Amino acid sequence: MGKTRRKTGTTTPRKSRSPRPVRKLKFATDWTYSAAPESTDHVRLESRYGLFIDGKFSEPRSGRYFATISPSTEKKIADVADASTADVGRAVKAARRAFDGTWSKMKPSERGKYIFRIARIIQERAREFAVVESMDGGKPIRESRDVDIPLAAGHFFYYAGWADKLPYAFPCRDPKPVGVAGQIIPWNFPLLMAAWKIAPALATGNTVVLKPAETTPLTALKLAEVIQEADLPPGVVNIITGAGETGAALVNHPDVDKIAFTGSTEVGKIIQKAIAGSKKKFTLELGGKAANIVFEDAAIDQAVEGIVNGIFFNQGHVCCAGSRLFVQESVADDVVRRLKDRMETLIVGDPLDKNTDIGAINSKPQLEKIREYIQIGQDEGAEIYQSSCPLPAKGYWCRPTLFTKASQSHRIVQEEIFGPVLAVQTFRTVEEVIEKANNTPYGLSGGVWTDKGAKIFKITGKLRAGVVWANTFNMFDPSSPFGGYKESGVGREGGLHGLLPYVNLS
Ligand code: ADP
Repeated sequence: MGKTRRKTGTTTPRKSRSPRPVRKLKFATDWTYSAAPESTDHVRLESRYGLFIDGKFSEPRSGRYFATISPSTEKKIADVADASTADVGRAVKAARRAFDGTWSKMKPSERGKYIFRIARIIQERAREFAVVESMDGGKPIRESRDVDIPLAAGHFFYYAGWADKLPYAFPCRDPKPVGVAGQIIPWNFPLLMAAWKIAPALATGNTVVLKPAETTPLTALKLAEVIQEADLPPGVVNIITGAGETGAALVNHPDVDKIAFTGSTEVGKIIQKAIAGSKKKFTLELGGKAANIVFEDAAIDQAVEGIVNGIFFNQGHVCCAGSRLFVQESVADDVVRRLKDRMETLIVGDPLDKNTDIGAINSKPQLEKIREYIQIGQDEGAEIYQSSCPLPAKGYWCRPTLFTKASQSHRIVQEEIFGPVLAVQTFRTVEEVIEKANNTPYGLSGGVWTDKGAKIFKITGKLRAGVVWANTFNMFDPSSPFGGYKESGVGREGGLHGLLPYVNLS
């Protein structure tokens, strides 16, 4: 994701809030960008957040709170409740009451009105949501402003439209809501993942208990405010915060009918084991190791931009990131040279600066994990290239990193790193690259760059991946389904397909 490119050329002097390191751009001779910080004046944040249960915020029974910090400043933003098993029980009880009492019985067109209302309020408060997302998660404001928040609103709009049209989604069947959905989301697209999960659940008549990731709870808590403002009946959406133990308590709660999880393959497997043998429905959207394939007949500059978009924007914190690059041998040197040149121009730094390309790594443990993989890549014998950009003194940062001379057996090629680290391999024939691209435990996404339409169809049909982009990368739309093959998960979210996990058909 992340399509907006900064303009080159004129530099109107702007009021500078903090000095930024001066850096020479290779192709722009002797000028750099002035700081362009997004204002935070309009953001209203509490110093402490409780749990959103039954339509209101309440203290956790556990009495415990934890801090959510900004990964770009390492400063605390707010304290957030740590929900215990008893708190999870309260949330599930409220969701069950709302399901039985109001939501499942409500006229579908009325349900739709509430969901439209949520979408509109998110749009009205889009700037505030974008800033909070960048503060709490570290992603560049351009990304949260232009991608995360509009897409989150877009998902609520899209599914609001389905609420009274379900018979058309499932012709000749009788779709009934499943009941209470337990939803657990990760830290890479906090509000967007909440929208992916909540919108289809509500449209189909289910009620929800959602748990955001412990490092990025704030936009989900702001969404709770939106839900209050939209006047949803109490208990229809409950938002509880906490870490893995809270998530596990939700998964194991006997009165939850469906689990929707997005996160690591490791936790996905734990969840699958935990609910095996129960009647709980589930969808899992897990890790990925996408192949981005560039043929010699591709428009090389566009492909380079797509590669950068696929792995470096959003710090590589995307499960569908194009982390394995396959380049046809005849153009490999050219592509790698242009890629290195482009990497030199990427700006790493303050997520709230509108010029920033790559923000902060989401947390210290994640940064340590990425650094470990960078060391592993070097130890395995791949050749490393990192851009020379300056990094801020405080916060969690990683330079865009490229490995050439990587091979299929390398761990940096096989394992998900979830950081701005790209492993490059070359190929000669279509058959060879299909085999190499499919040689992974994952199968979430992929990309193909070529001038030939026929080649696109040949390749996309043979790649074992849920989404394959052609001559673009990381493009999303609420109407198109998303999900993986193999260890990348079970089920689809988005589009018409995203309704299915939330209904029982008779
Ligand atoms: P990542 O590696 O991307 O941080 P995780 O899979 O660890 O992803 O976390 C994704 C979400 O799953 C987070 O909300 C986290 O709190 C939650 N989680 C972690 N462990 C468990 C567990 N055992 N059961 C349920 N949820 C969990």
